[in-house]
Amino acid sequence: EVKTSQKNYTVLVGSDIFEDQIKEVADSFNGDNLFVLVDENVEKYHSDLINKSFEETGKNFFLMTVPEGEKSKSVSFWNTCIEFLLENGVRRNTPVFVIGGGVTGDVGGFAAASALRGVPLIHVPTTVLAMVDSSIGGKTGVNHSTGKNLIGAFYQPYKVIADISFLNTLPRDEWTNGLSEILKYGAIEQVDIFDKAEIFLQHKIEEISKDKLIDLITDCIQIKADIVEKDEFEGNIRAYLNFGHTFAHALEKECSYQSISHGEAVYLGMLAAIELSNHFGAKLNPDKLLKFRSLYHYRVSKEELSLEDLTDHMKFDKKRTSQYIRFVLLDEWQSPILKEVRSDDVIHQAWKVALDEL
Ligand code: NAD
Ligand code: ZN
Repeated sequence: EVKTSQKNYTVLVGSDIFEDQIKEVADSFNGDNLFVLVDENVEKYHSDLINKSFEETGKNFFLMTVPEGEKSKSVSFWNTCIEFLLENGVRRNTPVFVIGGGVTGDVGGFAAASALRGVPLIHVPTTVLAMVDSSIGGKTGVNHSTGKNLIGAFYQPYKVIADISFLNTLPRDEWTNGLSEILKYGAIEQVDIFDKAEIFLQHKIEEISKDKLIDLITDCIQIKADIVEKDEFEGNIRAYLNFGHTFAHALEKECSYQSISHGEAVYLGMLAAIELSNHFGAKLNPDKLLKFRSLYHYRVSKEELSLEDLTDHMKFDKKRTSQYIRFVLLDEWQSPILKEVRSDDVIHQAWKVALDEL
C-alpha cells in the first residue's frame, strides 16, 4: 500500500498475476474503452498474453507500441502518446495501462498525467528496475536537450501490477541494472538485502527462486513506498534514493551515455560515495562491504576518465545546491545523510578508489 496526498494505491507483486489483474482493474471502471501503451520488446515477447488478457475484459482496447530505448522519453513521443489518447476519445475515467520498463512508465505516465489533466494510470513494470523503483512514487516525465528528466509531473498511479513472469525475457544486462538499485536500498535502509540479492549470482535466470525474487522485490518496493510516504515531493529524505547517483550521472555523461549502463554507473557511484563517507568518518561494517563488493561483475573496461571532468559534470547536476556539491553519504549502513562537499581533492580521491575497482 502506498499512501500519498494525491491518492493511496496498491502495488501487487506476484507471478502470473497479469491476466487476472487486467480483468479486475478493467471491471472496476465504467465505460467501454481501455488504452494500452506497451514497450516494443515486451510486445514482441508477450503479445499473446497481452492481447488475450485485454480481449477477455470484453472492452475495446486501443494499443500503441512504445519504441524501445531512452529516445522515447522525448517531448515529441509524449505528444504522440497524447494524440493517440485524445484522437481515440479518452475520457477522464478511462484507464490507461502502461506496460514496460522505466522509459515506457515515465513517458506513458506523463501522458496519463497530462491528458485531460489526468486519467487513471496503471503501471505494469516489466524490468527489475521499473518494479523496484520507477513505477513507485509518482515521478513521470521526459528528457530535454539540456538534461534528463527535466519535464514532467508527480502523478500517482491507480495501481501497480508487478508480475515477475515478464522478467523471463529480460536480458541479463537489464537484470544487472536492477541489481544496482536493489543494492542502493540495502545500503540506505536494509542491509540484509545484500544477502537476499545473492540470488542474482545464479548462472541462469530461470534458476532464481520465484518466492525469493518476489520477497526481495517486495522489500525494495516497501522501502521506496515508506520514503515516498514521508516525503512525496522530495523536500528532504526522498533525496536518499539518489545514493550513488551524483557520481553515476557524471560517469554516464562522461561516457556519453554509451559505454556504461546506468546500473554500472550507479554501482561505481555507490563505491565512490562509500569512500567519501569513510573520509568523513563513517563506520561501515567491513563484512557488509565485502558482501557488497562481491555481488557485482563489471562488463565495462576502464577508459581514459579524467577526474577533473567527472567532478565538473557533478557541478552541473541539477541536484547541486549553490557552491557545494551535495551528496548522499552514509554514517553507517542504513543511516544515510546529506553532506555538502566543497573540496575537489576529496572528491577526486573517492573517484580514484571507486575506479580502481575496474
Ligand atoms: P527501459 O525501459 O529502457 O528498459 C530496458 C530494456 O529492456 C529496453 O530495451 C526494453 O525494451 C527492454 N524490456 C523491458 N521489459 C522487458 C522484458 N520483460 N523482456 C524483455 N525486454 C524488456 O529501462 P529501465 O531500466 O526499465 O528504466 C530506465 C528509465 O527509468 C530511465 O529513463 C530512468 O530515467 C527512469 N527512471 C525513472 C524513475 C522514476 O521514479 N520515475 C526512477 C528510476 C529510473
Ligand atoms: Zn538509478
